[in-house]
Amino acid sequence: MQESLMKYNGKIDFIDLKVVDINGRLRHVMLPGDRLDDSIFAEGIGFDASNFGYATVEDSDMIMVPDPDTAFVDPFYEATTLSFLCDVIKTSDGKPFMQYPRNVLKSAVGKLRTVGAAEALFGPELEFHIFEGVSYDVSASGAGYRVEVSEGYWNSGTLSKETRVDQKSGYHRCPPADSMAEFRNEVVLTLKKLGIPVKYHHHEVSSAQHEIEFLFQKAVSSADSIVISKYVLQNLAYRHGLTVTFMPKPLFAEAGNGMHVHQFLRDGSGRNLFSGDEYCGLSSMALSYTAGILFHSLSGSLLAFGNPSTNSYRRLVPGFEAPICAVFARGNRSAAVRIPGYVKDPAKARIEYRTLDASCNAYYGIAAMLCAGIDGVKEKMNPSEMGFGPIESNIYNLSEEEKKGIRFFPSDLKAAINGLAEDNDYLKGTFPEDLISRWTSLKEKEIKYVNSVPSPAEFKLYYDL
Ligand code: GLN
Ligand code: MG
Ligand code: MG
Ligand code: MG
Repeated sequence: MQESLMKYNGKIDFIDLKVVDINGRLRHVMLPGDRLDDSIFAEGIGFDASNFGYATVEDSDMIMVPDPDTAFVDPFYEATTLSFLCDVIKTSDGKPFMQYPRNVLKSAVGKLRTVGAAEALFGPELEFHIFEGVSYDVSASGAGYRVEVSEGYWNSGTLSKETRVDQKSGYHRCPPADSMAEFRNEVVLTLKKLGIPVKYHHHEVSSAQHEIEFLFQKAVSSADSIVISKYVLQNLAYRHGLTVTFMPKPLFAEAGNGMHVHQFLRDGSGRNLFSGDEYCGLSSMALSYTAGILFHSLSGSLLAFGNPSTNSYRRLVPGFEAPICAVFARGNRSAAVRIPGYVKDPAKARIEYRTLDASCNAYYGIAAMLCAGIDGVKEKMNPSEMGFGPIESNIYNLSEEEKKGIRFFPSDLKAAINGLAEDNDYLKGTFPEDLISRWTSLKEKEIKYVNSVPSPAEFKLYYDL
């Protein structure tokens, strides 16, 4: 057994093996603590992958193998419980199951070599709403909705009363308006114990909206941190009688929840490959990487993995600091790629992709984004030649004339999925074809379902006609 785990021998009541399903939700199975021996790392534990969205029932036997580097004592059990994130291998040949999110991301990282980079570093920002509860009822019995109208706009959740601030005015508010500061402290202290590096936390723009920003980590660790942080947030909220949602747009006419990701590439000696003497102190590699991300966002393909819910496209609208088009710029919060302007230290040169949201499976979202960036570098794409800017002014306020030449993102999930069908060469070797077709049919099913359910907006428009 790995040296670092020896200290747990004989000291734990349970082992908890956590696996991510196709949507990015955690699933788990618990083993008695005395099973902490080499066999669980060598042989793993069998499970039925068809219930996780990956496989057909006929071909669903898979094996989860704990990754010893992900061990942490799970704070949400009375009994001492050592938790692991798992990788997944196939029963048939013991080889990695390449649709499994962590494996997909590892394979994307493997492509870095092709552009002379050794590692990619990611610093994500998680935005979320905290509600006292949410009520919805779309049951077959047709009981309908409990829809709340407050302050003139339609809510899909119940705001925690204390946290109510005026529309779009919550950014960095202090207590008592920021009544969840202590809750976020508790979350961040818990994350620290689990080894997740946090940069800071604060109240966000919308009522009941919050943010936790993370420090840079390598790709897989960064995605692991996102998944575990969501788990911590959801469980601590539950203990306080609250709920947390990462839905991209839970409230109409309020800011939505994004998952911005700061990122740069390094070579084997640790040199930041994004530092150079082009625009904003970036290298031409950084600009090509940016162009790749914008190009594959525009096609819809990257959005299909990075913004994979029907709700994602209610966030990508003008007026809420969320991106709407393929544009980059310094410090511009309406651009899809922002170059943080204040960075003087070449070691910290980076870009911030602002389009992703946390309804994505973090592994797939980051993997697709990385493939898009790498493709840009390989193809030596030039963002200015491709019409992506830089545009320094607020895109939401451009005149029709100024908007000419700017290309806008697909406006719904259907268009994004269509884009994935057209533009997926850059994902080859990382996203297996089986995964792309599985993902497409999963998303088509969701679209069909959402389209078939009467919505609160329809009640508002049509109820009394
Ligand atoms: N909430 C915004 C978004 O949807 C971002 C706002 C911010 O971080 N300043 O991306
Ligand atoms: Mg932030
Ligand atoms: Mg933010
Ligand atoms: Mg940001």
